[in-house]
Amino acid sequence: MVDKVRGLLVGRLQPIHDGHMDVISRILAEVDEVIIGIGSAQLSHTLKDPFTAGERTMMINKALSENGIHPSRYYITPIQDVARNSLWVAQVKMLTPPFEIIYSGNPLVQRLFIEAGHKVSTPPLFNREVYSGTEVRRRMLEDGDWKSLLPPQVVDVIEEIDGINRIKHLSQKEM
Ligand code: NAD
Repeated sequence: MVDKVRGLLVGRLQPIHDGHMDVISRILAEVDEVIIGIGSAQLSHTLKDPFTAGERTMMINKALSENGIHPSRYYITPIQDVARNSLWVAQVKMLTPPFEIIYSGNPLVQRLFIEAGHKVSTPPLFNREVYSGTEVRRRMLEDGDWKSLLPPQVVDVIEEIDGINRIKHLSQKEM
């Protein structure tokens, strides 16, 4: 039996967008399986982190499985933040299947894994000005075209959970 090579991608994925989908496709062209760590899993219902870890799991699972990625090729694991950065890699490793390489463009994530002795790869950014969680959430709040930045399955989940009204409600000032 040949051991599987696994890669890890950690992101808040608030929500998963076409830039993340591009990275995941690239990872799966290099390794057998991808582990998707849902970062800041404890956060939800804020403008920066509107969706729960459960909602993000549903979005990611539908986006991958319904876009030709077989469920045997990915794992989805929620990962809560820890107050001490120096302990975070141990927390990630406790919660995820074993992996050989971590993929991240986030300098803090890169640094923590390098210092823990891991191989880190930086995937190229896919039209980052547009494909960013910040831009997706800005468009949601301002009635812009957010749907074109996301896989259609993610749009369906956001509509099912009334996500746009959640974000707009959270942005209101107390009266
Ligand atoms: P993110 O969702 O913004 O991005 C996830 C990944 O996708 C990143 O590697 C990013 O470079 C990549 N990406 C985003 N847009 C892209 C595009 N258009 N094209 C190609 N790639 C793109 O998430 P993030 O902010 O990197 O998440 C890091 C997580 O790790 C956070 O939840 C953070 O809290 C957590 N973390 C926690 C600790 C701690 O708890 N002490 C320490 C470090 C990191």
